[in-house]
Amino acid sequence: MDDAGKIFEDFIREEYIKELTKVLNSGEKSLVVDFALLDQFSTELADEIIENPEEVIPQLEDELNDMEIVDRELKVRFRNLPKSVSTGIRNIRSKHLNKMVSVQGIIRQASDVRPVAKSITFECPKCGNKIVIPQTGGKIKTPYSCSCGYRGKFKIVDKKLVDTQRIVIEESPDVSEHAQPRRISVFLTYDLVDPRMDRVTTPGRKVIVNGVLKEVPIPSIGGSTSTRYDIVLNANWIEPIEQEFEEIKINKEDEERIKEFSKDPLIYSKLINSIAPSIYGYERIKEAILLQLFGGVKTKRPDRTTVRGDIHILLVGDPGVAKSQMLKYVANVAPKARYVSGKGTTSAGLTAAVVKDEFLRGFSLEAGALVLANGGVCCIDEIDKMNKEDRSAMHEAMEQQTVTIAKANIYATLRAETSILAAANPQLGRFDPYRSIPEQINLPPTLISRFDLIFVIRDLPNLQRDEKLATHILRSIDTPKEIQPEVDPEFMRKYIAYARQNCKPKLTREAINRIKNFFVAMRNPKGRSEEEVKPIPISARQLEALVRLTQASAKVKLKEKADKEDADRAINIMTYYLSKVGVDVETQKMDVDVIFTGISATQRNRIMLIRDIISELEKEKGKNIRMDEIIQKAKEKGIDENRAEEILNKMKRDGEIYEPRSGVVRRMPR
Ligand code: ADP
Ligand code: MG
Repeated sequence: MDDAGKIFEDFIREEYIKELTKVLNSGEKSLVVDFALLDQFSTELADEIIENPEEVIPQLEDELNDMEIVDRELKVRFRNLPKSVSTGIRNIRSKHLNKMVSVQGIIRQASDVRPVAKSITFECPKCGNKIVIPQTGGKIKTPYSCSCGYRGKFKIVDKKLVDTQRIVIEESPDVSEHAQPRRISVFLTYDLVDPRMDRVTTPGRKVIVNGVLKEVPIPSIGGSTSTRYDIVLNANWIEPIEQEFEEIKINKEDEERIKEFSKDPLIYSKLINSIAPSIYGYERIKEAILLQLFGGVKTKRPDRTTVRGDIHILLVGDPGVAKSQMLKYVANVAPKARYVSGKGTTSAGLTAAVVKDEFLRGFSLEAGALVLANGGVCCIDEIDKMNKEDRSAMHEAMEQQTVTIAKANIYATLRAETSILAAANPQLGRFDPYRSIPEQINLPPTLISRFDLIFVIRDLPNLQRDEKLATHILRSIDTPKEIQPEVDPEFMRKYIAYARQNCKPKLTREAINRIKNFFVAMRNPKGRSEEEVKPIPISARQLEALVRLTQASAKVKLKEKADKEDADRAINIMTYYLSKVGVDVETQKMDVDVIFTGISATQRNRIMLIRDIISELEKEKGKNIRMDEIIQKAKEKGIDENRAEEILNKMKRDGEIYEPRSGVVRRMPR
């Protein structure tokens, strides 16, 4: 097409002069053209841009930069490409090569910005002729021969460098329900790597990228030419996708059905029965998961701190009790959900990581599962096996809901407003009801305490239940059709998405009072015995959790107000959870410290007693104290030998005392 430049200039003069002036006045470095407008102006030119972008776009740029009002070099970029060129990442094939395409996805990785040679000028050592070779691939291209006939080594006399950033985008999980999400590398250059673009290009963001598909050899470690090629996208334009766009599409008809269903008196049980219908039992856990899917309401306090609305749930239990199944199921029905294993299949793991960028030889920030599931649910199986880096980053991710990373000159804070549904296996295989959760799962108590609800699932033989369970499992294998969910997953997903977007319930006075009374009554039970350390049955964390659960309960019915019915539902679930795991096994009293610190009030009382004994003996006998004397004294005060030994061992582990020689302990100097 010879007159492409001419047509483009006409287009600019007739349709786009206002925009061009705006660009020139604002100091921007590119003119962004609405492709649909250009298509109306000249279908022929539009088609040519799609079919032959690398040839045509530079012509258009030359023409534009030759216009007398243009005082600097401008790039031409195209937004709003037609649907016909928008391609799923998994559908990209070699037929798309060298064409303009439009893809969308989540940014998984973003490298730092590096200079890359766009073209190199060589000089012939024989005749002095200069040869310019455009550089496209990962390896340097040199001239084959000079027009004077010379063949051999050429001298590099000049290079044209361009700031380049590589990002990796991945298709949204909603697109690829059951398969591993596919990815593609995208190269950004010129003004697309300006600092103000950071907003668009941080990992975790959703974007549309328009660009030209190219093949590049995969850089090999040794530097030899590789025969393997990778397809990359040279971006012409990138823009963020607004929230409304990518959400699940809800049309008028759906909306009517949603509103209708919200009035169904059996809505709770219908929805609960639709969560993992193939899994028998666990009604309470399913109810909690249901509330998690709807979530609470994120609130900003006047002092600018926020309280998260996302509900985190932890399932701890014996092997083979369908924990993994439950997680996988939720990942399939929940909008924007992801299933990952704590063992971490990717280098970024759960939070984020800085990784080497093999293309640009720099560093790249890669988002982990929690960032990629921003705004949805992340199902983390075997969370106890997560790596060290994640372990420390998880605290921030669960409470502040951000992931901050500062490493190798990359510094970023990524958003991770994600609800976590996690599963963990006890270290010793089976759950031991006589030991606390932190003692049995390999997670720090500080992290465990960030879960709103924790359920322990034990696999105990029970004649009646086992019969029903067996019948259920066998039936689901034999005639899967009979285990149909009451609400089909497609509708359920729409319903949840609608509620999450449109419903922000407020607590009524009554609901607030219920929660308050429950909290106060739990902490101050009647007829308390005179112990030195009182058990703390519930803490402020659980109070916040109660509020979230109450709000979620109201959302299920699309209610504007969360009332006492909702507060009661929340209280019931919380009581169920605390009564199962938050009980001091020795006194049978509720005690959250059992869950979170692993030390019950009774145990703490004993520790204090032993400490007193140690101080006494220290005064009498000096710094080295014989263990059998401590144990003897403890016995006199009613602590049996095994318990006393256990406590001494614990104090040793905690670094409170040490054993300078066998049978003798000494207090650690402070
Ligand atoms: P876990 O992750 O807890 O070790 P899995 O999720 O791998 O266990 O479950 C093991 C198998 O047992 C799965 O096929 C699951 O469907 C089955 N199973 C266990 N408990 C139940 C149950 N209550 N109802 C239906 N299937 C069950
Ligand atoms: Mg499992």
